[in-house]
Amino acid sequence: MTINEIRTKYLEFFSSKGGSASGGKARGHTIIPSAPIVPQNDPTTLFTGSGMQPLVPYLLGEPHPKGNRLVNSQKSFRAEDIEEVGDNRHTTFFEMLGNWSLGDYFKKEQLPWFFEFLTDEIGLDPKNLYVTAFIGDEKNNVPRDTESAEVWQQLFAGKGIEAEITEIGSEQDGYRLGMTGRLPAGRQGRIFYYDARKNWWSRAGVPENMPAGEPGGPDSEVFYDFGTPHDPKFGAECHPNCDCGRFLEIGNSVFMQYIKQADGSFTLLPKQNVDFGGGLERIAAAAQGNPDVFAIDVFADTIGLLIHFSGKEYTDSRYQRSFRIVADHMRAATFMLEAGVRPSNTDRGYVLRRLLRRAAQHAQKLGVEHGEGKDSMLVKCAVEFIEKYKQAYPELQSEDVYETTTDEIWKEEKQFAHTLEDGMKEFEKVAKAGHISSDDAFVLFTTFGFPFEMTLELAHERGIDVDEDGFAAAMKKHRELSRAGSEQKFKGGLADTSEKTTRLHTAHHLLLKALQVVLGPSVKQRGSNITQERLRIDFSYSSKMTVEQVAQVEEIVNEKIAEALPVIRSTIPKEEAEKLGAEHEFGAKYPDMVSVYSLGPVGATMDDPQFDKAFSIEFCGGPHVSNTSELIGTFKIQKEEAVAAGIRRIKAVLQ
Ligand code: ATP
Ligand code: MG
Repeated sequence: MTINEIRTKYLEFFSSKGGSASGGKARGHTIIPSAPIVPQNDPTTLFTGSGMQPLVPYLLGEPHPKGNRLVNSQKSFRAEDIEEVGDNRHTTFFEMLGNWSLGDYFKKEQLPWFFEFLTDEIGLDPKNLYVTAFIGDEKNNVPRDTESAEVWQQLFAGKGIEAEITEIGSEQDGYRLGMTGRLPAGRQGRIFYYDARKNWWSRAGVPENMPAGEPGGPDSEVFYDFGTPHDPKFGAECHPNCDCGRFLEIGNSVFMQYIKQADGSFTLLPKQNVDFGGGLERIAAAAQGNPDVFAIDVFADTIGLLIHFSGKEYTDSRYQRSFRIVADHMRAATFMLEAGVRPSNTDRGYVLRRLLRRAAQHAQKLGVEHGEGKDSMLVKCAVEFIEKYKQAYPELQSEDVYETTTDEIWKEEKQFAHTLEDGMKEFEKVAKAGHISSDDAFVLFTTFGFPFEMTLELAHERGIDVDEDGFAAAMKKHRELSRAGSEQKFKGGLADTSEKTTRLHTAHHLLLKALQVVLGPSVKQRGSNITQERLRIDFSYSSKMTVEQVAQVEEIVNEKIAEALPVIRSTIPKEEAEKLGAEHEFGAKYPDMVSVYSLGPVGATMDDPQFDKAFSIEFCGGPHVSNTSELIGTFKIQKEEAVAAGIRRIKAVLQ
């Protein structure tokens, strides 16, 4: 089934008057057009990332001019998924199928309709469908979503499947409990209860983080089981929310059911909404029984072109990621150009530039034959996508769009080629030394705009070393400086944003130390990244952390937050810092006088930092909060996974 067919079927199914599964209640949704991928009149949001985003005002109570049952396919773009592109299921641009009830129907209609759509319309085998529901939150008095679980059980029974309901809890629990959940050994769940981090929606996240007056509710996800073998790299046991690729999340029904009261309790909303979102490409992948979203029809011709002009095989593991990146990025770029975005160094334009340059780089890696102007490979890819999508999105059809799209891509390619040329000259110059120092790699990247991946690859071809760790350290410092710079620049408006990042930065220090306490002193930081939502640390350790170890680390960090340790910055001679055992970035070079941050003990001051009693000391330029008590919320590890041999990655939040 092509995505055009699936999209049409979905829109017809929800807009038609049929409704057998709900005991005769007619579906009758109004089809609304996709909102533009670039939000109108909203400078705070770069792109539309879901079908719900443009509908938020209506979900919050404003009447919608088209009524209270809506359906569409929304063009969505998620810049935050750019690093995920290359796996089997993430693309930056995708279409989200969505249907909404604004205070109208609820769980008893939504779940049967979606199930009927998947099984009877698309033809998915119900034996391959697994679902999740909200386990409940005793502390906050939100009940378990037994209604959804019961509806699911009946739906499966209708297909002759005895669906067992079981509890998981957190994602971490899932890796321990597997498909059995908490059923007796040997049995298999089909309907799984997960906690609020997986099955709860509100704009503020989990129930305890919601302010008074905020609506939220449980959600219920549907997963397709491709039956591929579990990859233990992700955890001991496989479960529906496992990231190994066996299960693909194809849709999520959010039930906006509650509102939080000033006393912290949850009461039913007077008007309850349904917000459903499902990935069109992923449903198509399920329909063809292939877990690779890049194997669906819209990508076939583009990938075919790339195969033809590169002579490489898509199934070759050395090249598959590059095939996927070029195909994904060119599709996204085509839609962005149509929406009026042009390559530049800021905001949306920067995202587009990054997509085009990354695509160019990976096309080069594939070794595709170069063409000029309209014959450029990237232009050909874009033209392919215009062809594929112009029926569903007529805005792509105009001659104007065709001309500007192809012109802009070629212009950017040429400019990037110049950049690369200058970078190549510089590379050849510094490569004469027989190795590439961190300074050289840094200058190549920042001054010449020469991608670090290219430096690595060229060095590899010539058999010379690159100081990768030193480069990572230099980049980290560079980012910190520019972050500090932009904090100055935006003081006021974005103050809150930088505060969040600063808090997570301090939490990062607590986390590294806690990891060393629990896993041993040989744990070293190997990379890090902090956004205003979460922190990420890569560290050396050779096996997956157990659930107990994760819990212990969380406990230590939360204890240190509760202890209200002073955070003290001191500038001291490098030797002295080293003697104190201050953590430093692997391979980084430091000046004679260094800045260190120490956390604790209580009572320590700038004049008397009591380094010997500090909980943690790190070489660091900051910025940090001045006391750990400013880390509002509970420290929580969301993910612990492998990134490379001997290197683990943790993502954590203050929630
Ligand atoms: P995932 O955990 O797989 O990244 P998500 O939790 O971010 O998914 P939602 O925000 O619930 O997904 O979005 C609704 C639906 O959109 C998902 O069920 C999925 O089918 C689809 N979807 C989300 N992100 C992507 C993506 N990057 N590429 C393709 N489809 C996606
Ligand atoms: Mg996601």
